[in-house]
Amino acid sequence: MIACCDRLSASHAGIRPAPIIDRIMVDPIPGPPRSTPSTKAAIGRHLEAARRRCEGVGVQWTPLRAEMLRLLLQRGGSAKAYELLADMQAKLGKTAPMTVYRALDFLVAHGLVHRVASGSTFVACHHPDAPHDDAMILVCDLCGSAVECDDAALSAPLVRTLRKAGFDARNVEIRGRCEHCRDEASPG
Ligand SMILES: [Zn+2]
Ligand SMILES: [Zn+2]
Repeated sequence: MIACCDRLSASHAGIRPAPIIDRIMVDPIPGPPRSTPSTKAAIGRHLEAARRRCEGVGVQWTPLRAEMLRLLLQRGGSAKAYELLADMQAKLGKTAPMTVYRALDFLVAHGLVHRVASGSTFVACHHPDAPHDDAMILVCDLCGSAVECDDAALSAPLVRTLRKAGFDARNVEIRGRCEHCRDEASPG
């Protein structure tokens, strides 16, 4: 639990209710940094952790929501909404965009996916068992890729400081050039 949440919600009581993520927030992410699962088995384990997490907090983990997260992971953990819509339509046939957006909204609301607001990109959280809303997302200005940077020691205090200052920070986006684009741009 981010220690300042209670103090903040007390001092800001009445402004608006605490978002659900604050209520299901857990201790700073334990264990070593993780990466996006890439094998079928790893994706299966990730989905299983997401299911357990949702059921643990009493929200429904439907086949559609699972499929949405699976498609995102199969795209390397980062994709635009329209790409995921195309994937879903390829898989299930005609699917209304609203169906996909609702499933994405659910995953974002429960901390299983981070929304990169500046690019309408969705990034699968590396921590399906420990949802959080203080992620640091690295966004490439050239190719638009977005990855979660696993360093809660860096991101959690930053979000906390911003919240103390009265800014209700939800994730931090850092723009720059990804490893691939940086190497392409550098001479020789
Ligand atoms: Zn995350
Ligand atoms: Zn790039």
